[in-house]
Amino acid sequence: MENAFESFGELVFGDAAMRSRLPDETYRALKDAIRLGQPLSQDVAGVVAAAMKDWAIEKGATHFTHWFQPLTGVTAEKHEAFIVPGKDGSPVAAFSGRELAMGEPDASSFPSGGLRATFEARGYTAWDPTGYAFIKDGTLCIPTVFFSYSGEALDKKTPLLRSMELVNREALRMLSAIGEPTARVVPMAGAEQEYFLVKRSLYEQRRDLLFCSRTLFGAKPPKGQELEDHYYGAISAGVAAFMRELDAELWRHGVYAKTEHKEVAPGQYELAPVFSSASAATDHNQLTMEIMRNTALRHGYVCLLHEKPFMRLNGSGKHNNWSLATETGENLFEPGAAPCENLRFLLFLCAVIKAVDEYYDLLRACVASAGNDCRLGGQEAPPSIVSVFLGDELTALISSLEAEEAYRPNCGRTIESGLGVMPRLSAHNTDRNRTSPFAFTGNKFEFRMVGASQSIADANIVLNTIVGQALSEFADELENTENGREAAERLFRRELKNHKRILYSGNCYSEEWKKEAAERELSVLPTAVEALPRLVDEKNVRLFARHGIFSERELYSRYEIQLESYVKVVSIEAKTMLEMTHRDILPAVIAYQAELSSAASKKAGLRVSNAAETALLKRMTALTDALYESADALDKRLDEVKAACCTLTAAALCKEKMLPAMAELRELADKLEVATARGYWPFPTYEELLYSL
Ligand code: ADP
Ligand code: MG
Repeated sequence: MENAFESFGELVFGDAAMRSRLPDETYRALKDAIRLGQPLSQDVAGVVAAAMKDWAIEKGATHFTHWFQPLTGVTAEKHEAFIVPGKDGSPVAAFSGRELAMGEPDASSFPSGGLRATFEARGYTAWDPTGYAFIKDGTLCIPTVFFSYSGEALDKKTPLLRSMELVNREALRMLSAIGEPTARVVPMAGAEQEYFLVKRSLYEQRRDLLFCSRTLFGAKPPKGQELEDHYYGAISAGVAAFMRELDAELWRHGVYAKTEHKEVAPGQYELAPVFSSASAATDHNQLTMEIMRNTALRHGYVCLLHEKPFMRLNGSGKHNNWSLATETGENLFEPGAAPCENLRFLLFLCAVIKAVDEYYDLLRACVASAGNDCRLGGQEAPPSIVSVFLGDELTALISSLEAEEAYRPNCGRTIESGLGVMPRLSAHNTDRNRTSPFAFTGNKFEFRMVGASQSIADANIVLNTIVGQALSEFADELENTENGREAAERLFRRELKNHKRILYSGNCYSEEWKKEAAERELSVLPTAVEALPRLVDEKNVRLFARHGIFSERELYSRYEIQLESYVKVVSIEAKTMLEMTHRDILPAVIAYQAELSSAASKKAGLRVSNAAETALLKRMTALTDALYESADALDKRLDEVKAACCTLTAAALCKEKMLPAMAELRELADKLEVATARGYWPFPTYEELLYSL
């Protein structure tokens, strides 16, 4: 058998391919441009384009595309063939430097939140040489950024790159100020991706899954996840074959897929990659989601990336692990053997605490969506209140530092891996609190609120920007002092006092924390409707504008798009429920009731008891009438949302009126489901969906 690792990255025009295929000076010019973020000359672009084309054609590619990440949250591509007619009319392959560097897709069908007037519907894509080109399904994909005629960002990649530059700049200033200069600081991310698999043949029989990627009806099966026998459970042969192919495909595309396991709910799984720079991790996570979906289809499954495909079962999230690394690969959040003496570590830790305390509303807002609302704040997912968990030992350490007491390390068991890669904090202290939305896990932060279907770009843009802001304030203060290190210690103590209210080690799911958070004056932003408007809060507009991450217009456009998408998603769900009610559920339950009533009359004719039939018929008739009325009420709610004066009002109506009406309709239908004979129910039940893998 061929060694699967040998094909790692074979579909990527990465460093090895560049080095072997480009003339030395072109290779160096390209590397410099990537490292220093400088634009490339037309000549260099031309040479790179020719080499890329030859490489891609040898690998069987026929087309190229500018691959970009518009505000839909998924990726976009428009394929062009390399083919052009040659002098004698026979086909030749061509790909110019200009085609590599710039594209002009019609942008009018991508959301722009009002940034682009119809008379300037063109958008531009520009090659981002910091991301490697790769081949996907016979097409050479060139990572690009996407912007409007007036230069405003229409994608998620541009602000992400801007925010990475910000962190680099401010971290370097701070490190110099404390006398520990370095050449470059890069935000690193590793996104653990949760997902569900369902059989394709069953999926296709349910309109809610087809249109909304989640079930809108479905009674709970007798067995859910209560026995806790799924987490890390054995994987069926069919699913194992899917995972092997998924890993192999991801490796060929240069993605270090590392860990695959079964998750808490039946039918739920997780894939974790090895972490990389935040921009590569963002690209790779998009690619992972796409390859997951396509590979699943080949194995007779559909991969569901929705945040809550099944009510009463765990939802799917995406833990965004985040840290800062220097050019030499040193992790700035590595506590080392003596964290209390590690000033650099303490300052970076403190910058994160300050950042989250001052801008927790942005962290909440950047994961707000209709889908994630179904998950956040349940008893199985991070709450919608943001707090930071540090673990007992770090908490004790920083309180003693804050109080200027000597720190006495407790005598907890320490991990002595001997490899120097494990943080030497007590083993049980680092990642104990799984209820925390934002936890320090040894040498990185784990932001657990991102939804399974969401791009990790937004979370990383916010993290980089808010930490960049804190570092910039620290640097401002420390740069102008005589003794940077002493000043740093004072700053550290003061900032901790100011921001410790964001630290919480208790159970974040508890009612007690809700009360306590209110006392600490932390806003609870329970749903997208409360959270999204925070994006355009004055302090947040100022923050993004100050650092050139989003102009005010760019930020407003994003807010408008998110809110609109919330209304659209909930409205489509409501319409799908109505359609399923009228065209599937009502006909089915009416047919079953007809059978019951004919059985009841036959029995009456025979003068035998028909008590069971009559009782069931009565109960079902009452439920059916209520279902019909409830559908009518939901229809009216839809009209109200359509007639709303603005998007925010429409969103509030969705949350306050439409979602409760949908919940009521579902409850009635689910009761009817368990009263109806199996053969009559018009679509596959939870039991079939979850237990047929
Ligand atoms: P768990 O399930 O306990 O959260 P996993 O091992 O499944 O842990 O996932 C941890 C994730 O964190 C992986 O994707 C890993 O690559 C990533 N990670 C590890 N170290 C860092 C780091 N320094 N910066 C960013 N991500 C990291
Ligand atoms: Mg995790």
